[in-house]
Amino acid sequence: EFHPVRRALLSVSDKTGLIELGKALAERGVELLSTGGSAKALRDAGLTVKDVSDVTGFPEMMDGRVKTLHPNVHGGLLALRDNDDHVAAMDKHGIAAIDLLVVNLYPFEATVAKGADYDTCIENIDIGGPAMIRAAAKNHGFVNVVVDVEDYEKLLGDMDQHEGATCPRFRKKLAQKAYARTAAYDSAVSNWMASALELEAPKRRAFAGELKQTLRYGENSHQKAAFYTDGSDRPGVATAVQLQGKELSYNNINDTDAAYELVAEFDPAETAAVAIIKHANPCGVARGATLAEAYQQAFDCDRTSAFGGIVALNQPLDAETAAKITEIFTEVVIAPGASDEAKAIFAAKKNLRLLLTDGLPDTRASIVAYKQVGGGMLVQDKDVGYVDLNDLKVVTEKAPTDEQMQDLLFAWKVAKHVKSNAIVYVKDNATVGVGAGQMSRLDSANVAASKAQRMADVLGLDESLAKGSAVASDAFFPFADGLLEAAAAGATCVIQPGGSMRDDEVIKAANDAGIAMVFTGMRHFRH
Ligand code: 5GP
Repeated sequence: EFHPVRRALLSVSDKTGLIELGKALAERGVELLSTGGSAKALRDAGLTVKDVSDVTGFPEMMDGRVKTLHPNVHGGLLALRDNDDHVAAMDKHGIAAIDLLVVNLYPFEATVAKGADYDTCIENIDIGGPAMIRAAAKNHGFVNVVVDVEDYEKLLGDMDQHEGATCPRFRKKLAQKAYARTAAYDSAVSNWMASALELEAPKRRAFAGELKQTLRYGENSHQKAAFYTDGSDRPGVATAVQLQGKELSYNNINDTDAAYELVAEFDPAETAAVAIIKHANPCGVARGATLAEAYQQAFDCDRTSAFGGIVALNQPLDAETAAKITEIFTEVVIAPGASDEAKAIFAAKKNLRLLLTDGLPDTRASIVAYKQVGGGMLVQDKDVGYVDLNDLKVVTEKAPTDEQMQDLLFAWKVAKHVKSNAIVYVKDNATVGVGAGQMSRLDSANVAASKAQRMADVLGLDESLAKGSAVASDAFFPFADGLLEAAAAGATCVIQPGGSMRDDEVIKAANDAGIAMVFTGMRHFRH
C-alpha cells in the first residue's frame, strides 16, 4: 500500500545533499526532525527543524553515544500503523509516527582507512544509526529508510509519482539495501577488531555463516582453517552426516564437494552414476545399470589415480558397491543414503569416511560463488548452465550416431567439472581419459590420450581406451591442433562450444579426419 510521507528524521554524518533534500521535503509538507549536527546544518539553511532531543525529552549525551535511542524515536519507527494496539500505545505515550528515516553512519571504515588510533575507531562505531536503520527497515510496510545519498533523488521521484506517498516495492528495496549496509558495517567493525587482535583467518568469523568445524589445518599443515555452513539445508557436503571414519580434512571437504556436485549431474531415476575424484578433478566417471557396474567402469578409467580418491554416488550405497569400494584405499564416500548391509561392510574399514545426505545436491539451484583475490572478492552465479540435444548444432558432414550423441553429452557433463583446459574422452558411458588443468588445450588433449593409453597397457589391451571415443572440450579449440590430437588418440566425435575465429579451420580438420562434431554454444571454464 501507498503511505504518505509526513514526518522525516534526518541524521547524517555525511551531509552531502542534506540541505537540498531537506528543502525538497519541506516543500512537500514533510515535518523535519533531526539530530545535533544535521539539525544545525538544516537550520542554517533556513529550514524549520525539530530537535530529536525535544522528541525524546533527553539531551544528546555521552559524546553523542546516546542521541536517538529512545521509545519516542523507535516507537515512531516501529509502530504498525494498522494495528490497534500499536496505535493505542502511540496515543498513550505521545509517540508520533516517523515515515521516513534518512541516516548515513559514522564513517567507521574511512576512520580505519585513515589509520586512526584504537579509541578514535571505537568512537566511530555508530550505535543509534544502525539501530534506527534496522527498525525502519523492519517496518518497511510503512516506513522509508534511506542510507545512501544516491537515493535522495529516487525517494523524491517516487513521492512525486504518488502524490507524496511511496510504493511498497520501493520501500522494500530501500529496506533490503539498508540491511546490506548494516551487515557490511558490522563486518567492517569485526574485521578491524580481528586485525587488532591479530586473529588467524579461520577465527575472524566476519562472514555470514555458522562455524561447523574447526579443521586441523588447511590445504597444507602450516595453514589454519575452518569449515562454515551457509545456513541452508541443501543436500551437499556441508549438510552431510558422517557415519564413520576420521575427521574430514580441508582437502577432503573440497574434493568431496567436487565429486558430489559432479555425480549429481546424473538423474538417479535414469541411471546409476559414480565419480571418483582426486584433487578436485575426476579421475573416473561412469554410469551403468547398477552402481557396482558404474563404479567398476569409473575405476577402470584410471586405476592409478583412483587410489586414495573420493567416491561420490548418485544412488544409495548398496552392498555390492560397498564391497568393491573397500578393495582399494579410498578416503571418502558420499551418497544419498546407504543400505544396512553396505554400512556393515564399511564398518570393518574404520578409517574410511562415509557421508550420507538426504537427496542429491540441486545442480540447478541458483547459488552465488565467491573467490578471494588480492584486496577483494569476485562474485558470480554458480555455473548451472547445461545443454540438451536440442541445443546442439552438428557442424560437420558426419552427424553423430545416437550412441555417440549419448557419450558426447556424458563427456560434456563431466568436462564442466574438470579444471580448464578440460579434455574428456568417453566411451560407452564411461570416461576413458581426462586431461585437466593444463595451460594449453593441446596439452590437455595429450594428457588425456596418454592416460587412455596407459590404462589400456595396465588392462593388457592392444589398443588405447580412447579408440572410438567421444571427446569433449570445455571451451573452443583455438586451433585445429587439439582436435587433431584427439583424432590421433582415436576419438571419432567431438563436442565443444564453437565460437573460435578459426572454427572453419577446425571444422575442416574434423571433416578431413572423418569426425562428427557438434557445437554447444556454451562453454564451461572452471579455474
Ligand atoms: P549529527 O551530525 O546529526 O549530530 O549526527 C548524525 C550521526 O549520528 C549519524 O551518523 C547517525 O547515524 C548518528 N546517530 C544517531 N543517533 C545516534 C545514537 O543514539 N548513538 C550514536 N552513537 N549515533 C547516533
